[in-house]
Amino acid sequence: MSKTILVIGGSAAGAAAAAKAKRTLPDSEVVMYEEGEYISTGICEMPYLFSGEIDNFEKLIFYTPEKFRTEKGVIVKTGSRVENISLREKKITVRRKADNYLFEKRYDNLIIASGSSSKKIPGLDYSLENVFTFKNMEDTVKILSYLKRNTSQKKIIILGAGYAGLELAESAKRGGYDITLIEIGKLPLPSASVETSSVIKRILDENGVRFLGEVSNLAFLTQEGKITSVNCDGRIIDADVIVSCAGFMPQSSLASSAGIKTGATGGIKTDSRLRTSDYSVFAAGDCVELINSITNKPAFIPSALFAHNYGHIAGENSAGGCKNAPKTYANLSLKLFDTFITLTGISEKEAEEYGFVYSTASASAFNLVKIMPGSRAVSGRIIYEKRNKFILGAEFLGGPEVSSYADIISLFINNKIPADKLAEANFNYAPSLSPFINLLSVLGRKIK
Ligand SMILES: Cc1cc2nc3c(=O)[nH]c(=O)nc-3n(C[C@H](O)[C@H](O)[C@H](O)COP(=O)(O)OP(=O)(O)OC[C@H]3O[C@@H](n4cnc5c(N)ncnc54)[C@H](O)[C@@H]3O)c2cc1C
Repeated sequence: MSKTILVIGGSAAGAAAAAKAKRTLPDSEVVMYEEGEYISTGICEMPYLFSGEIDNFEKLIFYTPEKFRTEKGVIVKTGSRVENISLREKKITVRRKADNYLFEKRYDNLIIASGSSSKKIPGLDYSLENVFTFKNMEDTVKILSYLKRNTSQKKIIILGAGYAGLELAESAKRGGYDITLIEIGKLPLPSASVETSSVIKRILDENGVRFLGEVSNLAFLTQEGKITSVNCDGRIIDADVIVSCAGFMPQSSLASSAGIKTGATGGIKTDSRLRTSDYSVFAAGDCVELINSITNKPAFIPSALFAHNYGHIAGENSAGGCKNAPKTYANLSLKLFDTFITLTGISEKEAEEYGFVYSTASASAFNLVKIMPGSRAVSGRIIYEKRNKFILGAEFLGGPEVSSYADIISLFINNKIPADKLAEANFNYAPSLSPFINLLSVLGRKIK
């Protein structure tokens, strides 16, 4: 049966949903509305434009609207903001930004993939010429073109030392900029343990990134429409450019004003098939309230991977499928100069908050046989439930191998394998690739 399926948002979730809906029901009309200029961009890769490792932002535009239409069969309307959803009449109202033209479009099924937005810092005037957010390709293009027009302006102040702020700081530092990272928390990456955050702080110090933590009072000094310095608890820091990286929040107001239910996290509530409180409307991506499979509680976990995976499921189900979206948890990794950091599952703080009775085990080892070129220390920490040794979370710091350690932990979490079974795993061994005794094996033995 042919249908009209409309999609709001053309980033990771929207593009995946639209393509999958069309594949599932080829006779349907699928239209994707995106208020910005670009669809399907490499948001996660954006920081590397500042080091020059990626030399042109156009390399991060994976599809133009024309290519998406030709290859996926989806009609794409960029520069088109959906301003209203009428659930009763099953139609949306769209504003075409180029000429302010308003029009309506009816749907059989609607998929909301409106994503997340940057949290704003009180007292910061985002309309000033040298103040930017860092959320999407439009933001990045604006920052890059400002820097290109003002080549002598090298002092970048980044407000917020979460993963986006840290990635930008690291990459821009390597790109030759003078970086100050300002954070409300005492240490960078506040979602990590104090041990991991302290190492991150040391790495920033060693690489010349100025970190100011526990900052409570910020004042912005302005001259001729630009911020020229920031008063940071009485300390004056000169600024050429301010980038606000204060975190993200679900962008769900369009849905909630239509009467679609949202949860305590601010995200849109869905059932396991990603159907919202309205039967004809699905939602996917950062705008959705996920269920954390470890705590079994609602959570906001912005992630390109979840957005893409959930987008596929919402697309298939909107076209008549009946796929379940698995519960999930964060599995984050970050590169900071020559160190890689991963955070998987929940933190110790969250374990406490959710009432788990838990223990932790920490260890360090070499990533390769010690005498081999490239060998270095790698450290890890596992949080596990005391009664059954199920893993709640883990952090690793070291070389690129930590990404595979985190993925192994993720399999243990998904399959509820007790942490001490790590001691029994048959880890591979070759001096140039892996150590004689793997860090995960050491942790498993400690837990045993
Ligand atoms: C610097 C940075 C690095 C990141 N690195 C990683 C990483 O390494 N790994 C990872 O998993 N995740 C990473 N993320 C997070 C990831 O980018 C997001 O989780 C992902 O983009 C979410 O996709 P989405 O489609 O749900 O939402 P979004 O990317 O937020 O897109 C939503 C889209 O909807 C559009 N829209 C919203 N409302 C409307 C409307 N009313 N009408 C029309 N269009 C609308 C918006 O313009 C936007 O394009 C990173 C994010 C940033 C900023």
